[in-house]
Amino acid sequence: MKMECRLGCGACCIAPSISSPIPGMPFGKPAGMRCVQLSSENHCLIFGQPERPNVCSEFSPELDVCGNGSEEAVFLIRRLELETS
Ligand code: SF4
Ligand code: SF4
Repeated sequence: MKMECRLGCGACCIAPSISSPIPGMPFGKPAGMRCVQLSSENHCLIFGQPERPNVCSEFSPELDVCGNGSEEAVFLIRRLELETS
């Protein structure tokens, strides 16, 4: 089910591995590592900019993935990644 992104959640910028280059992380990032473009308030610092990886722009918040809070989202995203790896 589609939902609005929770402002300040940031789970999808920490939990998954990202294989595309991110400014400051030329080889992407491993699972569980905070993206360097995630601000301390958990906002994307390159939102809307062309350098933002497509995988980030294409991700749309779903209740199944984002859960009811960022801790639940980290758990769900991690599980999803392990299941699909
Ligand atoms: S996990 Fe979902 S709610 Fe949290 S920041 Fe990402 S898209 Fe938004
Ligand atoms: S580039 Fe932005 S949206 Fe993508 S993982 Fe990093 S902080 Fe999140």
